[in-house]
Amino acid sequence: MESNIIFENAMNLIEQASTVLPDDVKTAIEKAYQTEESGSRARNALEIILENIRLAKENRLPICQDTGTLIFYIDRPKGITEKIIKDEIIRAVRESTRKGILRPNAVDSVTQKNSGDNTGIGSPYFHFEESESDSLRIRLILKGGGSENVSIQYSLPNSEPGAGRDIEGVKKCILDAAFKAQGFGCAPGVLAVGVGGDRMTSYMCAKEQLFRRLDDRNTDVTLREMEEEVYNIANMLGIGPMGFGGKTTVLGVKIGKRHRVPASFFVSIAYMCWAFRRAEVTFRI
Ligand code: SF4
Repeated sequence: MESNIIFENAMNLIEQASTVLPDDVKTAIEKAYQTEESGSRARNALEIILENIRLAKENRLPICQDTGTLIFYIDRPKGITEKIIKDEIIRAVRESTRKGILRPNAVDSVTQKNSGDNTGIGSPYFHFEESESDSLRIRLILKGGGSENVSIQYSLPNSEPGAGRDIEGVKKCILDAAFKAQGFGCAPGVLAVGVGGDRMTSYMCAKEQLFRRLDDRNTDVTLREMEEEVYNIANMLGIGPMGFGGKTTVLGVKIGKRHRVPASFFVSIAYMCWAFRRAEVTFRI
């Protein structure tokens, strides 16, 4: 019984994530469309993207052919094991792949063989937290490969963007990443940033920012000001949607931080494309 509830909710969650863009992302793209000049390539690109979003939702089809890496973050109540949750989500991932809601995206990195059902070593990715609630909360990000390829990590100090170990250095890294992503990664994108941590946790921190809504406000004043400043500067770079030029290079900038050892200072940027697929579900079991 418990298993079936998890499976059904996971099926709906995956379909929602793959076929319906979150309302805050869609609103940001609609605003960008209004901002771009009439007849410009930027506006045309955004028009096609908005039509794509509409058709995907209407027909319950994937928003993009690359349905990405599956990243699950799960808050589980005490009485239920990670194994039951994992087993049911994996069952839902296999079934969603069979139904065409997900593209088979898990390739053995040595044999190059595609598992055919989106499962394999480390795939999907699961992150568990135990919660005090009696409800199970499952959050999902589908992270496209093209945008992942332009994600980047900097070790500070870094001579390439001329970044020192301070806030100004962090800003230089984020803007350097936005500049380097031009023509790749399907702009306009979102710059999700992790400041500090080690190489692994810095990227984790960056990716966790993708669970934030674009219209939220960072509770850390310094990070909030940095998000606003970098957003404004990035949108003056002229890269534009799909690199066609224009006023919309990024839809948002989200920054988190972690403590670090004195010897290291990492800045990690998880670049997310316009197909920013995020969904969540909470239910009692
Ligand atoms: S980067 Fe994003 S929009 Fe571009 S192909 Fe990949 S998933 Fe699709």
